Amino acid sequence: MDNQSVKMKKKKKIALIAHDNMKKELIQWVEERKNILEKHQLMGTGTTARLLEDKTGLEVKGYKSGPMGGDQQIGARIAEGEIDFMIFFWDPLEAQPHDPDVKALLRIAVLYDIPVANNRATADFLLSSPLMDEEYERRVYDFEGALKNRVKLFDK
Ligand code: PGA
Repeated sequence: MDNQSVKMKKKKKIALIAHDNMKKELIQWVEERKNILEKHQLMGTGTTARLLEDKTGLEVKGYKSGPMGGDQQIGARIAEGEIDFMIFFWDPLEAQPHDPDVKALLRIAVLYDIPVANNRATADFLLSSPLMDEEYERRVYDFEGALKNRVKLFDK
């Protein structure tokens, strides 16, 4: 696979998402780590973002609610390079109406090589990484190069 590097700045663009049964846990986790998270740019799906703003006082840009397309919006922002880090507490015990969107979002996060935490322990390990305060080169598939090669195939 041909790769190229994409630079993550010191100030990370972090998406925060929690399914309904996990929202309380995420709010508490964010509240306890406010001093770290306030150094970064935060965003999230509609309900999660609004709750986080109300309960923690942090600024969190909200997209649509997850089941209404919010997960897809977050995925699109990752593809556009506007989100480079994700904390997503999805519910391991309950099916969601938008399960296909959740799967798509997790796939895009892997494809774009962004750090993802799906539970509290992983989120703690990620947040305590020295890389949180440094720039970092993500390795992303070279879509432009691949596209050029594909176009060449038909350009005869
Ligand atoms: P919500 O969406 O923050 O609007 O509840 C989260 C999700 O279900 O993905």
